[in-house]
Amino acid sequence: MQPANAAGSYDMTSQLPGATGTPLWLLAELTYRCPLHCVFCYNPLDFARHEKELTTAQWFDVMRQARALGAAQLGFSGGEPLVREDLEELIGEAHRLGYYTNLITSGIGLTEARIARMKDLGLDHIQLSFQDSTREMNDFLSSTRTFELKQRVAKLIRQYDYPMVLNVVLHRHNLDHVGRIIEMAVEMDVDYLELANTQYYGWALVNRAQLMPTREQLQRAEETVNAYRKKLGNRLRILFVVPDYFEDRPKACMNGWGSVFLAVAADGTALPCHAARSLPGMDFPNVTTQSIAGIWRHSDAFQRYRGSDWMKEPCKSCPDKKKDFGGCRCQAYALTGDAANADPVCGKSGHHNQIGKIVFDAHATQTRQKDMNVQPLVFRSKANSLGFAAQETNGGCKEI
Ligand code: SF4
Ligand code: SF4
Repeated sequence: MQPANAAGSYDMTSQLPGATGTPLWLLAELTYRCPLHCVFCYNPLDFARHEKELTTAQWFDVMRQARALGAAQLGFSGGEPLVREDLEELIGEAHRLGYYTNLITSGIGLTEARIARMKDLGLDHIQLSFQDSTREMNDFLSSTRTFELKQRVAKLIRQYDYPMVLNVVLHRHNLDHVGRIIEMAVEMDVDYLELANTQYYGWALVNRAQLMPTREQLQRAEETVNAYRKKLGNRLRILFVVPDYFEDRPKACMNGWGSVFLAVAADGTALPCHAARSLPGMDFPNVTTQSIAGIWRHSDAFQRYRGSDWMKEPCKSCPDKKKDFGGCRCQAYALTGDAANADPVCGKSGHHNQIGKIVFDAHATQTRQKDMNVQPLVFRSKANSLGFAAQETNGGCKEI
């Protein structure tokens, strides 16, 4: 599965951060196991060294505690959540606790028997991801043969009366297919199509030079989307998420750190954002040793970038600091080396010119690729993950 951005695919913009801070959204990353190998996967590069997974009883406890704290929406994600054999049990318990539940899936492993059972158990929503409208590109980017399988799953989702929510991650290799992707969505009777341009975290950051589109590509795609919006009206709602690197103001990442969003990773690590594991010097708490309330209210990890007291200039004195919270901490770290800096996507950041250079360099690799020594795409695999983990242990893996 692939959430659209660092806030997942959830629209949290309508949620006001609670005054005391309530984790309205719980993202349960049930497992890092996944049959696909997407080049833009947002899972941590070293996912293979976090193989331990919470048990069914531990997840029940997490859901109960988070619900008691005010969490109302629950996303089951991963990796691929369907590889967990207890997924149905977890869905049933979540429904019993009163959550609105969302399964975020690549579709691989969703049989008719399983979807029927999930429906009975009260699953509210399914978000299915495709990599492209063509079998060739879908299968290439995920390094699997899964296109037809996903098409069958799309039919099952419809057959079982779920709203059809389709997510496609966009980048250089499929932005020019956006019209065909929309046509595919119409054929599949999709209600809501999320066209999420790649955000550069995790594996996408490693593959950034290969995935970054040109500004012209992006403009063409946006024009196509707008033309289809006019033509299709309410028949298909299309969300087009522009990549950060082409903006000059950052997004309100996570609606503010430790504000409304709580992710629990497969091994029980609690995170204010699912990409936060990339930040060095953070001691993220684990739900197996601390209560969710304690983690949310008192842990250093959740307090570190909460509110605005931690900010440096230019954010500190900026009138927009309560609108965008200084942008994304992971992006600030990845591009400036300091997570407390303003997100360099912001035009007011002293590091903003780096963004333009990255886009320019990526364009150069695209137009002169044959003559240049460009790193080939790195697929998300256990072997590659262990390689990254080893580099990190040896003090490498810093410069991407
Ligand atoms: S490999 Fe693909 S399907 Fe699997 S978790 Fe990553 S992005 Fe999702
Ligand atoms: S300076 Fe900081 S708070 Fe102001 S717009 Fe930029 S990122 Fe947001």
